[in-house]
Amino acid sequence: MAKISTGLGQAPERGDHVRQDQRGTTGTGTGAAGHPQTGTAAPSAASGIMAGYPEPADKASLRRTNLSVMLRHLRENGAQSRTHLAAATGLPKATVSVLVGDLIQRGLVREGELDRAGAVGRPHRMVDLDGRWICGVGAEIGPDHITVLALDLRGTVVHEDRRALDVPALTPQAALREVADLVADCLSAVADLGMHAVAVTLVTQGSVDAASGTVRVATNFGWHDVRAADELRALLGPGCPPVLVENDAESGALAEYLAAPGADVRELVYVTGGIGVGGASISGGTLLSGSEIGHMKLDRLDRPCACGRTGCWEVAVGLQTFLDAAADPADRVHDRSVDLAERLAELLARAEAGDPRTLAALAVIADDLALGLSVLVDVLNPSRIVLGGYFAVFGRYLVDEAQRFVDRRRISPAAPRVVVAASALGLSNAAQGGAQLTLEPLFNDPSAVQVRATVSHGGPGAEPA
Ligand SMILES: [Zn+2]
Repeated sequence: MAKISTGLGQAPERGDHVRQDQRGTTGTGTGAAGHPQTGTAAPSAASGIMAGYPEPADKASLRRTNLSVMLRHLRENGAQSRTHLAAATGLPKATVSVLVGDLIQRGLVREGELDRAGAVGRPHRMVDLDGRWICGVGAEIGPDHITVLALDLRGTVVHEDRRALDVPALTPQAALREVADLVADCLSAVADLGMHAVAVTLVTQGSVDAASGTVRVATNFGWHDVRAADELRALLGPGCPPVLVENDAESGALAEYLAAPGADVRELVYVTGGIGVGGASISGGTLLSGSEIGHMKLDRLDRPCACGRTGCWEVAVGLQTFLDAAADPADRVHDRSVDLAERLAELLARAEAGDPRTLAALAVIADDLALGLSVLVDVLNPSRIVLGGYFAVFGRYLVDEAQRFVDRRRISPAAPRVVVAASALGLSNAAQGGAQLTLEPLFNDPSAVQVRATVSHGGPGAEPA
């Protein structure tokens, strides 16, 4: 695994970790995908809202860092008074007031209600992220579905659409046309809300070259060297936001990390179960690039895998193995024209009704899942493992066994306990992570966002242009 360096070593916040890679999602210059970048004064025509400021380098750099610290602190902790922000960030209150004013002018934070809790004297006005103007779009393409959604700055889903699609049966171009349809609908919907989409991240399985926006190999789709970002841009036409491409497990890990409460998750491993099994980890607050954990040799039956080898873990615990064990081929749960969420809900209902075949299938998956997770614990030493995809849907049947197994394998009773949990973000968490990735440059450098012409003083009364 290659560690992706962070660009904000000074920032003490959780969240300064997020993937900063060769596309330059932070740092300087304009990334290969044309995503608006920081550090240079060049405005990005593609985004329309980002602009730089000509300032002495050290002063500009300090301000960028402080604005970023404030914005991330609000994302992590919710609405705060200026006094609390000053105490939490260690910045003088006068500096905090100036920074908050700056962020308000850019439409990134807003003033809200008065903080009367425990206040002595005059109550303080709370400051919070402003979710009204800017959003990021995540588009996930899986073997049997596409999901497109938009998140505002606060991480709230403002638009979501999902469609069942038999991706392996289509050419990459045909599949990407379906994605482009949903993305175009999404861009139109957020524009109707008065919001600006900074970028679109296409999230896919397999190995991805983010710099060129290429899906190198996605065995479960049969894709090889598909220039997905270029194709999607061409389909969306002129004026579309920048398009990035990211691996689904990495996006999912980011979404889980940002959704996880508290600071105890700086070492997190995310494992997602679908037709393929993917994983990514966050270590010391930094997103590590994903690895082919689905192809660890852990299948006790040594069955053939789509990768051309035999005995891969994803053959033992992947969705197809579960479906095959749980239902006959003619059963509706195998019908790829039906949305996976519906098919899984059907199987969950059977499990809850005590259907012996479904429960037996889950018990076998639970055993093999626990085995693989214990290997990941030994190799990666996380404090938390989050299960996503179909594993999360059946969390109550899988998590306990995995937790017991991992506990039993603990080297000593004094060793820190690894917590196994199911994702609470649902089947769209990779798309949510993709959308979060598009917002990262903005959290890294809020000063790259243009001051809103119509917001002179900010505040809840300010209206869009
Ligand atoms: Zn394999």
